[in-house]
Amino acid sequence: MEERTIFHRIRDKEIPADILFEDDEVLAFRDIHPKAQTHLLFIPKHFVASIADITPETVHIPGMLILKAQEFAREKGISGYRLTFHVGKEGGQEVMYLHLHFLSDQKIAS
Ligand code: AMP
Repeated sequence: MEERTIFHRIRDKEIPADILFEDDEVLAFRDIHPKAQTHLLFIPKHFVASIADITPETVHIPGMLILKAQEFAREKGISGYRLTFHVGKEGGQEVMYLHLHFLSDQKIAS
């Protein structure tokens, strides 16, 4: 059985998060320790632990996260941002549930 992480619990609404985007495939919420004016995490609803586990069958998942981040930015009027995957403990990944960091020095337009 897969080990449940804090992001499983956020995905399954067992613990609260500041969710800014959700559809059938992706959830995006604010990072609890923001490292930029806007710092979100995009996660797939289908669990994958890390970029290190991506295979030809699941390679669409990181691409989908990037596409949702791009659409979110456009919709919210953010023209510049950074997208980061931390890969493995030695790569700075603390939560073993694939997530895309979205960081911007711009604020989300309300
Ligand atoms: P990483 O180092 O790439 O695994 O990033 C994990 C991120 O998750 C960190 O930036 C944490 O601040 C963030 N984080 C941990 N717990 C929560 C939580 N309950 N809600 C939102 N963000 C979280």
